[in-house]
Amino acid sequence: MASNKIFAAFIIAGAVFAACSRNNYPLVGISCSRSSYGGTELPATYTEAISRAGGVPLVIPTVHDEAQAAAVLDAIDGIVFSGGEDVNPAWYGEEVLNETVEIDSLRDRSDSLLARAALASGKPVLAICRGSQLMNVILGGSLYQDLPSQKGLVHSGVTHKIGLSGDSALSRIYGPDSLEVNSLHHQAVKDPAPSIRITARSADGVVEAWETPQIIAVQFHPEKMLAAGDDDWLALFRAFVDRL
Ligand code: MN
Repeated sequence: MASNKIFAAFIIAGAVFAACSRNNYPLVGISCSRSSYGGTELPATYTEAISRAGGVPLVIPTVHDEAQAAAVLDAIDGIVFSGGEDVNPAWYGEEVLNETVEIDSLRDRSDSLLARAALASGKPVLAICRGSQLMNVILGGSLYQDLPSQKGLVHSGVTHKIGLSGDSALSRIYGPDSLEVNSLHHQAVKDPAPSIRITARSADGVVEAWETPQIIAVQFHPEKMLAAGDDDWLALFRAFVDRL
């Protein structure tokens, strides 16, 4: 009897250990760009941010159909939509505005499949820059195609403050005061999708963060600020990985 109990205790301890080992490192898929020679391209700032936050980053090369996207989402615990090219304006009913708009049709197709699979899965999403724009469009919103020519605003290669709404993921992590962020974008959310809640804007009114219960979206690049030595931004990635 006693030996049975000891044996059972070992079995339970083993199961708990296995469960803990499995759950210690959530798998985080990250969408990526294609390099000029057609390779898979993603700045290591994204993978390092996820690693430092306690997750295992997995770069997701181009997927080609719904079944592949669903298989990817089955295999991971959460997904990051990374920065990069502009989303095709046809998706929100507009023609390309001017030569500043850069589109990669293959990435657009892959990202849209992954975005829809992510929404269907309900798994947590962190959407950065293009990722934020992409998810807004997939959910039914639209974008400014070029802030300088449409709004007279320059948000590329500068830093600026953002004001946070009281009830937001960012204010829960960083408190209510404004934050200084980098700004490396020429597009931004114009009409927000019906289901999203805008949670941060710059002083000139540009949407800089939004969220849904599933998605945290930022227009700036926390992974880049983290890589540049601003360790405060690790907390944002930890908050994301801790949900997985
Ligand atoms: Mn900005």
